Amino acid sequence: MMSRPPSRSAVLENVLIAGGGIGGLATALALAKRGIASSILERRLLFGEDGAGIQIGPNGTRILEQLGAAEFLKTRIAVPDALRILDAVNGRQLGSFPLGRWIALRHGAPYWVAHRRDLHNALLSAAEREPLIKIRMGFDVSGVREEGGKVTAMSVNEDEARGDVLIAADGAWSALRSRAFAGPATVYTGKCAVRTVVPIEEVPQALNRTEVHLWLGRDVHVVHYPVNAGRAVALVAIFDDRSIAIDWSTPCDRDWVTARTNSFDPLLRELLAAPDNWRRWSLLALREQPRFIVGRMALLGDSAHPILPFLAQGGVMALEDAVIIADALAGNRSDPAAALAGYAQARAARVRRVARASARNGRIFHLHGAMAAARNFALAKIPPERFMRRYDWLYGWKHP
Ligand SMILES: Cc1cc2nc3c(=O)[nH]c(=O)nc-3n(C[C@H](O)[C@H](O)[C@H](O)COP(=O)(O)OP(=O)(O)OC[C@H]3O[C@@H](n4cnc5c(N)ncnc54)[C@H](O)[C@@H]3O)c2cc1C
Repeated sequence: MMSRPPSRSAVLENVLIAGGGIGGLATALALAKRGIASSILERRLLFGEDGAGIQIGPNGTRILEQLGAAEFLKTRIAVPDALRILDAVNGRQLGSFPLGRWIALRHGAPYWVAHRRDLHNALLSAAEREPLIKIRMGFDVSGVREEGGKVTAMSVNEDEARGDVLIAADGAWSALRSRAFAGPATVYTGKCAVRTVVPIEEVPQALNRTEVHLWLGRDVHVVHYPVNAGRAVALVAIFDDRSIAIDWSTPCDRDWVTARTNSFDPLLRELLAAPDNWRRWSLLALREQPRFIVGRMALLGDSAHPILPFLAQGGVMALEDAVIIADALAGNRSDPAAALAGYAQARAARVRRVARASARNGRIFHLHGAMAAARNFALAKIPPERFMRRYDWLYGWKHP
């Protein structure tokens, strides 16, 4: 391969970040920790509810600690003792696998469950305290231009922002992926997620446990866990469904959910009937992995790799991306394009592996008939710690 000529601007003065979600904020914080200034360009005028719950494995909580966002979260999270897997139809427990103290000791960092809003607020408040980070709200990036060692981002209102590098952290529906990276469009996976948060008083007593519950059914699974320091429970149900919701988060009727879950165990039905503020997400995938970089521009987080949520790792991958891209840029400030190439190389195999493992879980969760019986038998037989050790490659990740 031909070596790239050194870039014209030898100093990395300002990194533009399109999108102030989990990945964008984490990247700005990771850059600031390395003395690099950034401007976050966020299309929304105000940050909002931002989904329901989020699980943050040890590979993510370790990063939140480094970014200075963990302290804020500690009073708002729950630390689940176990992952409890149940049959959605007859309520039988299929297995229980250790989280809590066991996973924290194994990986040197805890497993947390949180309201997604609290995770976002933790990153945002750390970013707002950081003089090297500027946040421009209402900046909807519509195009980018790279010339003379600089990148310019244009907004739909014809504002401009200039920097040495642009990181597109504009989420799964990323417009920049197709516009600036010639990336593939997303395809609908035929699965949708409905999510909500229920006050703890509305949760059946028998399900008020500090655990991640995973209920498996035919072509459907349900996950719930405590958030808001145990004052509420985040609920997500994932269904096979042909119709795509055209926005990332749209309201969904309670009747839509109850009609699809009326064969479930009475306890689970009771839980699913409680909320009346469901929102629905269409789950998207890319047919192929896009190029993560073009010159001085890089994709990061869901815009680079919208990972299906069956391993609860999409947001955590955005956190991992953030520290790797910040390390790469800090390590080669005079040639940002080469630094970004290093980031892309460091991340491609890892996110591919996580995406595959997540898709595989999706297939296993939704099995039926003899295959489901074989899965349930295996879950009952496997020693719980051995089951969890299979995920050492995932949760034990540390950035070099
Ligand atoms: C049902 C479900 C459950 C999940 N559960 C988990 C879990 O338990 N654990 C986990 O780690 N992950 C989970 N995820 C995945 C996680 O939510 C995403 O991976 C994560 O939000 C990705 O962060 P991001 O910063 O890349 O994108 P986002 O969080 O989507 O942020 C993108 C930001 O860019 C902004 N933006 C978009 N376009 C523009 C533009 N043109 N100009 C400027 N700004 C723009 C948006 O307003 C937004 O603020 C789940 C996802 C789903 C759907």
